[in-house]
Amino acid sequence: MPVTDVLILGAGGAGLFCAAVAGKRGKSVVVLDHNDKPGKKILISGGGRCNFTNLGACAETYLSGNPHFAKSALSRYTPHDFLALVERHGIAWHEKKLGQLFCDGSAKELLAMLLAECTAAHAELHLGTTIHDVQRTESGFSIATDKGDYQAGKIVLATGGLSIPPIGATDFGYRLARQFGLEMVATQPALVPFTLAPSDLFDLAGVALDCEISCGGTTFAEALLFTHKGLSGPAILQASSYWDAGQPCLIDLLPGDDLAERIRVAKRSGAKQTLPNLLADLLPKRLAQVWVSRHRIPEQVHHLTEHEIERIAACVHRWQLLPAGTEGYRTAEVTRGGIATGELSSKTMEARKVPGLHCIGEVVDVTGWLGGYNFQWAWASAHAAGSAL
Ligand SMILES: Cc1cc2nc3c(=O)[nH]c(=O)nc-3n(C[C@H](O)[C@H](O)[C@H](O)COP(=O)(O)OP(=O)(O)OC[C@H]3O[C@@H](n4cnc5c(N)ncnc54)[C@H](O)[C@@H]3O)c2cc1C
Repeated sequence: MPVTDVLILGAGGAGLFCAAVAGKRGKSVVVLDHNDKPGKKILISGGGRCNFTNLGACAETYLSGNPHFAKSALSRYTPHDFLALVERHGIAWHEKKLGQLFCDGSAKELLAMLLAECTAAHAELHLGTTIHDVQRTESGFSIATDKGDYQAGKIVLATGGLSIPPIGATDFGYRLARQFGLEMVATQPALVPFTLAPSDLFDLAGVALDCEISCGGTTFAEALLFTHKGLSGPAILQASSYWDAGQPCLIDLLPGDDLAERIRVAKRSGAKQTLPNLLADLLPKRLAQVWVSRHRIPEQVHHLTEHEIERIAACVHRWQLLPAGTEGYRTAEVTRGGIATGELSSKTMEARKVPGLHCIGEVVDVTGWLGGYNFQWAWASAHAAGSAL
């Protein structure tokens, strides 16, 4: 029966990086995963280029029951620390926008880097392994799998969240946490497109524009995309993390502009301009047409009353969107909620009630914004645990 200092459950970004950090400190480490390949999510991340960190990562860019929890790990392993590792491995990278760092080539390079780090740290990967049972013993933990039993002094729970089941996501981490009596924060899909009721749908799939969206007290200025089922794009994905069912979002389709004033100026000019034409100079043409007909807006600018001008401006600057739902875990980039941070040490990620059990990455109730923040949490929490094992 294999006996190791550390057994890591889950060979995603957090599990692999934690294995490398602990292995380099001289610990014997085995990583178990039911998938036959490690890091599947890394390979599909960032459109295949992996947005591996964000230079602006700080506690404010994460949702969590305790907004301060992530501070310690994030400050002890920063985006610049991870970037230095990427550069040591000769991986070319670029900043796309807003501090988002991507591989120039492919996410495969980033996974290869993590695997090389594990090899250098003598950490073993036992893939295609189904975990049946985990129990505490006097000396640590015993783990029963379809490939035999393991004994480990410490275990690290790095099995991620519920997003994208076809590539291996399960609720294993949550079940194990509950088995050990750890409190959970309710989970829900996050960074996920909204769906709309059939009567609210627009025939605008593919139309995109910059907007400002407010939801749950937080505002994002990003691009919005109309889809066949509803709405997507970075603005919607960001807002979805703050959205609760039944709650409206407020969207400004012309941020930083003053549509009412533009209409007044056009009216005063005396020119016989139509509203669809005026809007088409400011918004995508198809959207302008749909907006005018959907909101039953009079077409001739010179006929508009002040009351109508105010109403039209409100339709564009303060669109009250009521999503019917989200596309769910099938397309969500992350899972909001998870193991309650109050159960863990923010320094070591160790469960207070279960000495020797550490929880890292997405399985914990720390959810990052879109833009490399979730990987930075995976690296930082893995480093915090790996340094303490
Ligand atoms: C399409 C997509 C694109 C994304 N792009 C980005 C991006 O560009 N930047 C960014 O910061 N974040 C991105 N994310 C989010 C990011 O990928 C995750 O937050 C991050 O990978 C979480 O790492 P993790 O190691 O905690 O979990 P995971 O990467 O999910 O790893 C968990 C591992 O545990 C294994 N596992 C699960 N259940 C079991 C079980 N029962 N037994 C054994 N093993 C099990 C899984 O097979 C998996 O290998 C993206 C997510 C998706 C879905």
